[in-house]
Amino acid sequence: MNGKQLERVYCPVCAAKFRFVEGWKQGSTVICPICGQKLRLKRSSDGWVGDRPEKGTEKEIRERVDEYARLHGYVFKDMKEELIQGLFGKNSRFGDFYCPCRMEHVVEYMCPCKPTRGGDVERDGKCYCGLFWKKT
Ligand SMILES: [Zn+2]
Repeated sequence: MNGKQLERVYCPVCAAKFRFVEGWKQGSTVICPICGQKLRLKRSSDGWVGDRPEKGTEKEIRERVDEYARLHGYVFKDMKEELIQGLFGKNSRFGDFYCPCRMEHVVEYMCPCKPTRGGDVERDGKCYCGLFWKKT
């Protein structure tokens, strides 16, 4: 038998798996350490998955971007509200919070997008949109 420390949780926002922490259980609310999404744990036939308890709501995307910035020590600038409005627009037109500055609506571009999670902010000082900024 594998110990719990080897288990992973699948995050539907960043499509990645992160480490299951001892003490978590069915229904626990946790934060994805990769994208900042708030998840409710559910045991599926494929293992642990996180549900999005506030999927598609303003609360969800605001909490996610704030949490992501907090996790990485990033800051926001004046255009934050405009970009949040852009994310709302994407959600109403395309069904999820895709990057407001890109034309493709694919899982890789769910905010925070894969390039951002891959180090764009560290390299360029900001993400593609200018939502997340490296602290100077
Ligand atoms: Zn995630």
